[in-house]
Amino acid sequence: MTLIDRYAVFGHPIKHSKSPRIHHLFAEQTGQSIEYSAQDVSAEQFSATAKKFFTEGGKGLNCTVPLKELAWNYADHKTERAQLSKAVNTLALQADGSILGDNTDGIGLVSDLIANHAITLAGTRILILGAGGASRGIIGPILDQFPQAVVIANRTADKAVNLAAEFHSKASAPAHAPYLHPIGKGSVTGCGFDDLKNRQFDLILNATSASLSGQLPPLPAGLLAENGNCYDLAYGNEPTAFVRWAQENHAAKSLDGLGMLVEQAAEAFFIWRGVRPETRPVIELLNSERQL
Ligand code: NDP
Repeated sequence: MTLIDRYAVFGHPIKHSKSPRIHHLFAEQTGQSIEYSAQDVSAEQFSATAKKFFTEGGKGLNCTVPLKELAWNYADHKTERAQLSKAVNTLALQADGSILGDNTDGIGLVSDLIANHAITLAGTRILILGAGGASRGIIGPILDQFPQAVVIANRTADKAVNLAAEFHSKASAPAHAPYLHPIGKGSVTGCGFDDLKNRQFDLILNATSASLSGQLPPLPAGLLAENGNCYDLAYGNEPTAFVRWAQENHAAKSLDGLGMLVEQAAEAFFIWRGVRPETRPVIELLNSERQL
């Protein structure tokens, strides 16, 4: 019988995942004894592999591409933010043997923006590029910050329109659900990239996967307001295409998603261990290891 609590990240591909490193740094910092591994798990293998992991004593899982929706289905019960995002990146074994599903991506992004980069979301115009799983995860926590307006723009415009409608229709939902927003807290609309002409935003978030292949969504000139900020959810050892676009368009801050990665991991660590690690030294260490 193993004495060390076991955790893992499942995904495909997973070889370059920084999650084991991040969680081991958190464990060292907080004096927690954990084991955390990365396992290459395809969508077809997910359910059986997760079941085996928990049956053999595993305490918690992170799930990444392409498993977040499957993890959502796998969880016995979900937090409100996971319920709404329809994607789960954190599974946690509960005392009664059930599995709780949560989505820590959105809170990870918001923490990085506000706490690490002093970017104000309240009262601002925010553009989210992309309408995939990552967008779903971040909309609720962003709306929680009382922006003036949120526009979702996507290559397949219908997806953005539907996603916006989903969050907008939830807007008049019950007050007990903090991620369901009354329309007065900020409007959410969806459109295609063509509809962005002659519009301006204070913060542009790239939640497309275009950066992963060095591509950039077609963005009109003048899209970023003066002193506006840009944030690419993707990250790498070099500036992404969107970060370069942000720099060329004189963004006050041109950021990538490494901080979000560490912040979402910290939230997962807190869910599992009840201890909140300090993220700043971990972000600084990972940043120092790449040449941006
Ligand atoms: P999905 O596959 O669910 O969605 C991809 C989105 O990108 C879709 O909206 C798609 O548009 C759009 N897209 C893909 N290629 C292009 C292109 N060439 N031009 C314009 N739009 C494009 O991916 P996810 O939402 O899961 O992930 C999105 C990004 O967020 C990834 O880069 C991922 O690494 C990052 N991420 C970072 C995290 C972090 O912790 N830093 C956490 C989670 C995600 P369409 O609908 O038209 O196909």
